Amino acid sequence: MSQPTPFAADAFAAPDVTLAPSPNREARLGGRAPDLVVLHYTGMRTAQEALARLRDASAKVSSHYVIAQTGEVFGLVPEAERAWHAGVSSWEGQEDVNSRAIGVELVNPGHPWDGSPEGYAPFPDRQMTALERVLTRVLEQWRLPPSAVVAHSDVAPGRKIDPGEKFDWLRLARSGLGLGPPHAIARSGECSWASFRRAATEFGYGDWADEAVLDAFRRRFRPTALARAFEADDIDVMRAVVRVKSQSKHI
Ligand SMILES: [Zn+2]
Repeated sequence: MSQPTPFAADAFAAPDVTLAPSPNREARLGGRAPDLVVLHYTGMRTAQEALARLRDASAKVSSHYVIAQTGEVFGLVPEAERAWHAGVSSWEGQEDVNSRAIGVELVNPGHPWDGSPEGYAPFPDRQMTALERVLTRVLEQWRLPPSAVVAHSDVAPGRKIDPGEKFDWLRLARSGLGLGPPHAIARSGECSWASFRRAATEFGYGDWADEAVLDAFRRRFRPTALARAFEADDIDVMRAVVRVKSQSKHI
């Protein structure tokens, strides 16, 4: 497989996308249309390193897009096909995330293995602008609400932490391309894991350890609370994003 199958109507064919086809792709299970976008960081310093790995048949990993820190967008797998980026994962009660998702890799060295922020770089404006362009096309193409855009850490808590707490979800939310930290929360003063998990399941999180779900949730919605013990605001913010998600579906 040296060339992708036809993708004329696919946003993949946009003129500002540099084609870099990957052999690591197949049909989506059941031929379903994508209804989710999973954002990642590459954990590598350069786009070239990431492209080499994501196009290596023996690595058995890929994504639909790679976005360099310069803003250059590479297209590896046509959106209608299944790329291999989510691994063991679940979202909204479904486990084959790759069959429903479009994977976007943002070039970033990522966290070191010990999870410390050392070396983990901010996502430059040019890279974010390119991502916004890609997401605008993808959401239009497949008629998806902003809530369809999630983090790898959302679908694989405890196993993955990308794109991480430096990723600007608020910026995506302001552009209508994702959900970020909510504007306002209703304070309940409640602090029970059971309530947190009920709201987390409603939002889409799968059956992972409590602390893992809390960590994934905070990296996206409460990045400044990452080091703190579980608290009432976690439940109230989770409930707020559940509300925003239910509204975002009905636009
Ligand atoms: Zn990832």
